[in-house]
Amino acid sequence: MAVTQQQLSYLKAMGIPVWVSRDAVDASLFELDTKVVTNQASEFKIPSPSSVNNKQTSPTTISHVAKASSSLSHKGDELPAKTPPKPLVDVVAEKPSVKIYTDCTSLDWQQLQSAVIACKQCDLHGVRTQTVFGEGIVNAKWMIIGDAPKEEDDLQGRAFTDRSGILLDNMLMAVGLDRTAVYLTNTLKCRPSNNRDPRKEEFSACVAYLKRQIDLVKPSLILIVGRIATQHLLETKEPLARLRGRPHKIFGLNTPVVVTYHPAYLLRQPRDKYKSWEDLKLAQSLMNKMGQSF
Ligand code: SF4
Repeated sequence: MAVTQQQLSYLKAMGIPVWVSRDAVDASLFELDTKVVTNQASEFKIPSPSSVNNKQTSPTTISHVAKASSSLSHKGDELPAKTPPKPLVDVVAEKPSVKIYTDCTSLDWQQLQSAVIACKQCDLHGVRTQTVFGEGIVNAKWMIIGDAPKEEDDLQGRAFTDRSGILLDNMLMAVGLDRTAVYLTNTLKCRPSNNRDPRKEEFSACVAYLKRQIDLVKPSLILIVGRIATQHLLETKEPLARLRGRPHKIFGLNTPVVVTYHPAYLLRQPRDKYKSWEDLKLAQSLMNKMGQSF
C-alpha cells in the first residue's frame, strides 16, 4: 500500500520507522516535530484534527454514559504472520458459549446506557467510580473494542482517555481516521481494580451490552485491541500473535474482525508498533475489498 506523506508523519509520531525512497518523499517530512502539535504526553505528537482527511460527514454522535520494522530479526514470543489474508473471514467462533445474563436485544441506545449505569451483575460495580459505556458515531463503519476501562477512563467515564488513548488516536490517524469517526468501547463497562485483567465471569456478565452495541452500530469492520478482549470474544486461548494478521468473526456475525495489540501494550513494547500498523493496513484492505470507505 502506498504511504502518503500525511501517514508518514503519523507513523513517525507513533514511533514506527517506514522506509521510503528519497525520490518519493520530501526530506523535510522527516523533520517531523515542527509539523505537529505537542500534547501533554511529551513523547507523543498529536496532529491537529483538522488536518485529518476524515471522510465521515455529519456524524451522529451519542453522549457518554458518564455524565451522561524495526528489525525483522527480533526474537520475541510471537510467530510472524506470513500467511496472506484469505477472503474475507476466517471463522473462529460462531456463538459465545458464555452465559448471557441480560437480554438487551430490544433496547435502544438510551435504554442500553441506562441499563449499564444501573448494572450490578458482577462485583465490579462495587469498585467503579462510574461506568464507561463507549462513545463515537452510532453508525460508524469501524468499531473498536478494548478489554476494560483503565483508571483515567473510570474517572472520566470515557473510553481510551489516557496515554494509550493518545497512541490509539495516532494509530487511527495513520489510516485516515480519528476517534470521532469510529465507535469505541470495551468488553467490560466497569474498571477492574488495579487494572487487573478482566475475568471470564465478568466478561460473561457484561457481554450482552457489547453485543447489543454491535447490533446497534452495525459496523462494517470490528477492530479488537488487546489479548484479553481478543481471547474472550474469539473464545480461544491462542496467543494474540497467532491470531493477528488474518480476519475473524464473532457472535456468528459476518462482520470481519481484525485483532491487534492494545495501545497500552504498545507503550510498553514499542518494537511491536509496526505489527499494529500492519494490522491496521489489513483492516483497511478488508474495507477496500468490501467497497467501503470510512
Ligand atoms: Fe455490570 Fe458490566 Fe459493570 Fe459488571 S462490568 S457491573 S456486568 S456493567
